[in-house]
Amino acid sequence: WQNKAAALQFPDQAVIDGKRRSAQSGQTFAAINPATGQCLANVTACGDEEVNAAVSNARQVFEAGTWSGRSPGERKQVLLRLADLIMVNCEELALLDSLNMGKPVMDAYNIDVPGAAGVFRWYAESLDKLYDQIAPSAQNVLATITREALGVVGLITPWNFPIAIPAWKIAPALAYGNCVVIKPAELVPGCAWALAEIISRAGFPAGVFNLVMGSGRVVGEVLVNSPKVDGISFTGSVGVGRQIAVSCVSRQAKVQLEMGGKNPQIILDDADLKQAVELSVQSAFYSTGQRCTASSRFIVTAGIHDKFVEAMAERMKSIKVGHALHSGTDIGPVVSQAQLDQDLKYIDIGQSEGARLVSGGGLVTCDTEGYYLAPTLFADSEAAMRISREEIFGPVANVVRVADYEAALAMANDTEFGLSAGIATTSLKYANHFKRHSQAGMVMVNLPTAGVDYHVPFGGRKGSSYGSR
Ligand code: NAD
Repeated sequence: WQNKAAALQFPDQAVIDGKRRSAQSGQTFAAINPATGQCLANVTACGDEEVNAAVSNARQVFEAGTWSGRSPGERKQVLLRLADLIMVNCEELALLDSLNMGKPVMDAYNIDVPGAAGVFRWYAESLDKLYDQIAPSAQNVLATITREALGVVGLITPWNFPIAIPAWKIAPALAYGNCVVIKPAELVPGCAWALAEIISRAGFPAGVFNLVMGSGRVVGEVLVNSPKVDGISFTGSVGVGRQIAVSCVSRQAKVQLEMGGKNPQIILDDADLKQAVELSVQSAFYSTGQRCTASSRFIVTAGIHDKFVEAMAERMKSIKVGHALHSGTDIGPVVSQAQLDQDLKYIDIGQSEGARLVSGGGLVTCDTEGYYLAPTLFADSEAAMRISREEIFGPVANVVRVADYEAALAMANDTEFGLSAGIATTSLKYANHFKRHSQAGMVMVNLPTAGVDYHVPFGGRKGSSYGSR
């Protein structure tokens, strides 16, 4: 992987109307490899001019009907070709994913990139299987319900799944005839660029897919506020999502938001301890805890609490933190210095709140100067502590002791978020009760809270999501 990475040409331009473009302003921003702290590329920083050009162009292409006017069967073939091309370029995409955000390269290679191809394939295959509907009519006329493209959709994505989240948004939008303008997170421009390049070879008319790179404040806001954009699909933090919702609603654009979480994992006395520990380690620390569905609070009933904390501490000793391209690495670096600072700040907060540090708590030294943090577990925490309530978005979790299932359920639901939740139990009664009474969009039984199927509706409740799944 190291040799392949050295040979990789790192992408640095926007793609508008099928052409690569640098911003008129000449400004750039640095894409940093979190495993080394080194600059991978200086990427063009788009401004109003480029975003407006991308949107106007997408609008013209949409109005011309060169894509939306194609038959479902034709669109299906183009999307299937795209899925094949993603797999042909699996190594390059996995490398970009890993270099950009520090994910162990084999995770990207085995999971994220095949998942991206899979989602294009799934939407392609849906195109000739989803029929129009005929509604029974009180007037005895023929009432037909037909799906039509929305128009130009703006997609704004976060840094933690550089290929998977863009693919989840791009695939349905393109499949149903929309034109797309995507703005990936500044930290991870590589995969979206490579995807743009692959899309340009799959047979889409020029301008159906456009990529603009740069800051949320400039590029994101221009895209959100453009009257030529019919809908916005956003994944990211709650604060930004709420601003986007206000802007979209004020101009009656469709909006879909997927945001943060503080996902609970309940461990009941009757859980299989080994299984509970394994799924908890996976939930909280893999992907460096940087998954919106990661679990960061373990709610554990009194009878198993001490055994669980002890077994977690033991299991955490064998988690290997390291360079994302090295074999044997379980957990790569934190994505950026800013995120590392935030994780360390919360570790300080946990200690000052009086939680007991069980494992981790500090930096890990590796052979390169990256942002390496030891997976960190607190015990003896309270539900009211900030580490129990606020999204940290790093490999930092805590354990809260409760008396019984009823107390665990109440605590799990006592949060402004509602993305994912899990329970470890051998009791069918509690598992079924939790599935019905958890206030999360996705509920897992004896599984990590993170890890989803791309063809199953994804989304949360309460503060975690807004709009359709
Ligand atoms: P973020 O909100 O900072 O940024 C997300 C995207 O929005 C980026 O592309 C950013 O440039 C852009 N943006 C920032 N300000 C903007 C503005 N004013 N107008 C328009 N766009 C703007 O989030 P992040 O740090 O990239 O990602 C981490 C967050 O994402 C966490 O809260 C995590 O839980 C959440 N997340 C949620 C899901 C989900 O499906 N629910 C999945 C992954 C990540």
